[in-house]
Amino acid sequence: MTIDSPANPLRFVLVRPSHPGNIGSAARAIRTMGFERLELVAPARFPDPEATAMAAGADAVLARAGIHDGLVDSLAGCSLVLGLSARRRGVQLPEISPRAAAGQALAAVARGGQVALLFGNERSGLENAELARCHAMVRIPSVDDFSSLNLAQAVQVMAYELRVAMLGDELPAAPPVPGEPPADAAQMERFYQHLAQTLDDIDFHKGRAATTILLRLRKLFQRAQPDNRELRVLHGILADAQRMAGLAKGGK
Ligand code: SAH
Repeated sequence: MTIDSPANPLRFVLVRPSHPGNIGSAARAIRTMGFERLELVAPARFPDPEATAMAAGADAVLARAGIHDGLVDSLAGCSLVLGLSARRRGVQLPEISPRAAAGQALAAVARGGQVALLFGNERSGLENAELARCHAMVRIPSVDDFSSLNLAQAVQVMAYELRVAMLGDELPAAPPVPGEPPADAAQMERFYQHLAQTLDDIDFHKGRAATTILLRLRKLFQRAQPDNRELRVLHGILADAQRMAGLAKGGK
């Protein structure tokens, strides 16, 4: 599935939203994360200029938003329904994080399913009967004494987690390393020997023990993980330093 797939298998369902501004903000929130499917269950006011204003250009999402009288209609075709709620309700449901929810949603989509993410009314949230339609409850881990996010902001958090999960899926297992692979142990060893010899040649230690500084330099270059091309440059610099030291000695 691509993020912008036209038959978007992920839908964001706002149940009984009161404020049209929140509908617009939610449209914008999902659009910024690459989603487009918004379903509205019994919105108090929609369409509405406030929704359009808050959508800030995510008009296509609003224009295509489905409007339903009841929740069941809005969930047609869904094999997984996840209900976002700030409060633990009486309903016995597994409670998961937005990140876990994103993982489960994408897994369901990968199996060919459709997924609904359900958001409740601004004041009353999702009612028990609505949560009863959900396979799990998703709680954004807000603080206990002020746990309720603005509706559109809750939509944004969930859409963001879905996007991160999708981008993660698209990335290859190991991040691509530009250029050559790091030099191997033998090449690094040759470099350390050259470095140690050069430090002697330029009289860097001035009678002090060399061991500590050599260990520290090893750590530095281990961390940098130079590749062969970079080691060749370093060898070149060391060779020039040795040559100059030789000239200086010869000149004395
Ligand atoms: N007083 C309501 C708050 C509703 S906020 C209540 O306690 O449920 C509107 C919607 O935003 C909620 O129904 C829920 O879908 C979502 N939401 C807000 N804060 C949330 C949170 N911390 N975790 C999950 N969803 C949250």
